[in-house]
Amino acid sequence: MICPSCGNVSEQNDKYCNRCGLVVSVKTQKLFDSVGTLSWIMRRALGGMFAGIIGWILSIALSRTIGSSSSMIVHLVVGGAIGGAFLGNVGGIIEHSSYKAFLGGILGCIGGILGGLINRPLYDYFSAHTMAYSISHSFSWSIAGLFIGATSGLIEKNINKVIVGVVAGFIGGAIGGGLGSGLYVSLVLDISRPNWITARFVEAIAGAVVGMNLWFVLGLVEKIYIFDRKQLRDETEKICDFCNAHNSLKAWYCKNCGKALQVSASVEKLKITPYRSLERIANAFKFISWLSAVAGVVLVIIIFIFLLFKNPFFAVFVSIALAILVYIISVLLNGTSEVITKFIKLRELE
Ligand SMILES: [Zn+2]
Ligand SMILES: [Zn+2]
Repeated sequence: MICPSCGNVSEQNDKYCNRCGLVVSVKTQKLFDSVGTLSWIMRRALGGMFAGIIGWILSIALSRTIGSSSSMIVHLVVGGAIGGAFLGNVGGIIEHSSYKAFLGGILGCIGGILGGLINRPLYDYFSAHTMAYSISHSFSWSIAGLFIGATSGLIEKNINKVIVGVVAGFIGGAIGGGLGSGLYVSLVLDISRPNWITARFVEAIAGAVVGMNLWFVLGLVEKIYIFDRKQLRDETEKICDFCNAHNSLKAWYCKNCGKALQVSASVEKLKITPYRSLERIANAFKFISWLSAVAGVVLVIIIFIFLLFKNPFFAVFVSIALAILVYIISVLLNGTSEVITKFIKLRELE
């Protein structure tokens, strides 16, 4: 087994790790497993934070572009659609599944729009309350969270997992929406004449808080319930529960029927790299590369539509230039991730 404390590989029935002396018992194993679980959940929360930052900055920029001539409800719906779409992407991007990122993005967008629609009526209803702004935003983002929470369960086609995900998304969205909007209001009131950087920072912080809280609660429930897999021991392949097809230990989905495999391989069998931190940095670069590509596409579309009415020729020119820039940034980030991954592979061969 792999020592949870120092990463040393020792015999299956050793009582102590021969490298760092840790007692290898069920208890120590469980303790270190829970640390691993927490770090898994924190990675989702961190992903939610990044997505929230980019989503909020973009949606507020778009809101400003639309201008004050449009009604409040238009601003709320646009903000909800973009913010929700970015938050919905997170799970799929982390799992490197564009299909899941797309489904989550669509669901988040729908939930965000519905959340935006109910925001104003709720605000009016609670208008006597000093926290009316936070309450209405808490409800709005709980609706977005509810839709986003359904993603993983829908992909596994399991109704119980959908329900649990929906409840978790609702709670996470409510906490994030309430805290994020509360923080936003207090910062806006505190800073009377913010400069450009400070203003963007305040907007980003609101999105960061919503995304972080939503994905912390959602990640917690995904880890302990939705992605709860039966642990394999000495098996050398994963057998699908639905069609009995044999899949490799690395597989997450059945190659024959496409359903999520309900078993997980033991860590010893998976040959996990000793360079875990480097692997995480590589994954973080990959995540930001995907996120910047999504943000870039949204940004190019917004700018194109905005400029089209002023000067169509200029609109095409700027959009193409911007698309190329976004492409370069995304490729550079992805390339950085690949360099790190290649380095890990080379070191492993030594
Ligand atoms: Zn050890
Ligand atoms: Zn199958």
